[in-house]
Amino acid sequence: MLQERRLKNPSLLIGKNYINAEWVESASGKRFEVHDPATGKLIGTCPESNSQDAQKAIDAAAAAFPAWRSRSGRERARILRRWNDLILENAQDLATLIGWENGKASFDANGEVQFAASFLEWFSEEAAHIHGDVAPHSSTSFRVSVLKEPVGVAGLIVPWNFPAGMITRKLGPALAAGCSVVIKTAGETPFTANALALLGEKAGVPKGVVNIVCALENTPEIGQVLCASPIVRKISFTGSTRVGRLLMKQSSDTIKKLSLELGGNAPVIVFNDADLDLAVKGVVASKFKGTGQTCVCANRIFVQDEVYDEFIRRLVEIVRAFKVGNGADTDTTHGPLIHEAAASKVAELVDDAVQKGAKIAVGGRRRQDIGPAFYQPTVLTDVSSDMRLFQEEIFGPIAPILRFSAEDEAVNAANACDVGLASYVYTQDITRAHRVTELLHFGMVAINTGVMSDAAAPFGGVKQSGLGREGSKYGIADYLQSKTVVTGNINVTHRAHI
Ligand code: NAD
Repeated sequence: MLQERRLKNPSLLIGKNYINAEWVESASGKRFEVHDPATGKLIGTCPESNSQDAQKAIDAAAAAFPAWRSRSGRERARILRRWNDLILENAQDLATLIGWENGKASFDANGEVQFAASFLEWFSEEAAHIHGDVAPHSSTSFRVSVLKEPVGVAGLIVPWNFPAGMITRKLGPALAAGCSVVIKTAGETPFTANALALLGEKAGVPKGVVNIVCALENTPEIGQVLCASPIVRKISFTGSTRVGRLLMKQSSDTIKKLSLELGGNAPVIVFNDADLDLAVKGVVASKFKGTGQTCVCANRIFVQDEVYDEFIRRLVEIVRAFKVGNGADTDTTHGPLIHEAAASKVAELVDDAVQKGAKIAVGGRRRQDIGPAFYQPTVLTDVSSDMRLFQEEIFGPIAPILRFSAEDEAVNAANACDVGLASYVYTQDITRAHRVTELLHFGMVAINTGVMSDAAAPFGGVKQSGLGREGSKYGIADYLQSKTVVTGNINVTHRAHI
């Protein structure tokens, strides 16, 4: 049944920039429109910020930094914990905003709220546990200690596929470490972020510690200002490898600390000895979550000879039962893609694969009957490595299946890409699980599950999937720097008498 998009608390829908704890317009006075990807209807408008706005936000963050870093970790922890609680209290409204601007199905949007809150909870626990080191010096009259300090103002540039989760996964560790931040939200999904900021203020986040600039067309200009600023000491970006590479170049003049969570091309390897129920369930979760628009989505599914036909039969049965539609409809299992251009790109990739010999087992068409951004979840068989969707990140609901015979054949094919984020292995043989895990050139390996992300699990890639880790005990390190203190001429004579 289609539910009207309504907020219990309408004050959470804010179309402004958030700078120094004030909701403000952009210097240009221009605004951009944000549309519901399912219906194309206007949700609202937001300021089209420019370099002046970005600079104001940077200045506010710089002014707030000294007091914020001087608070105890315990004080910062309490604020993050309250923020987590407020997110959970407002879960329904936040899920509505996420589903509205991103399009994802309502159960997925609800899940994202819990996921987003979990990073504030996790890093509230880390905030009071930032330990330095004491190291033995080579001279007995010297002492070495290592202090952990916040890096300073951090620029956080986030994508649209998790309008809440990608923000809190950066904000949590940044604030726990004592950094202040400027967030550049995705033009497609600015409203969820603004609602989060409002709740943060209620939780006690001080003025200027969190700032948000919205932009659509001016996004590259804001990115350039954040990267070039000598005040901003760190950039954390989630998005494509193409933009990550650009931000890295732009940050080189000021030698910034960088966290880059970039594109993936995740392989799934299903061996003959796999529990097929687990494998199919896992592929459904990892491939079709968010209508295939996550960076850990299965992109190439390698299935061994003996189970190939049965795996496809079971997968197709499930995919055929998916209900594509408006995410606000409670029956919908899969919503639209983020916009029409994304659906066109997916259609191009499928056409290319079919021309090169792939077979459509289910789906394989756009759903213009529902709306221009919809694509029917699809399973493709007889896929080969010369097809574009083998080499490129699909970012849509297409499951390409390849057949393999020998273990090394699958591992080598899985590794044959220049990115390395998530990978998945299904086998009941523990020796094989360990061996294959070590051979895979990926930052993350999931064994017998399709769910990778958790606040406790370090998230990140190798090769051109980026730098750094988010979440977990490692996530906070990306927002800290070490200060070495060497104390000399300690009285050694005294020690000799003890
Ligand atoms: P994108 O790189 O085009 O955009 C991502 C974000 O970067 C958006 O907010 C956009 O506004 C901003 N951006 C774009 N150009 C910019 C510029 N010149 N300067 C500064 N900011 C800029 O990516 P997309 O296509 O919107 O998102 C999908 C990509 O993100 C996929 O490649 C996916 O794998 C990746 N992703 C990675 C992770 C991860 O954790 N590794 C998570 C989610 C998405």
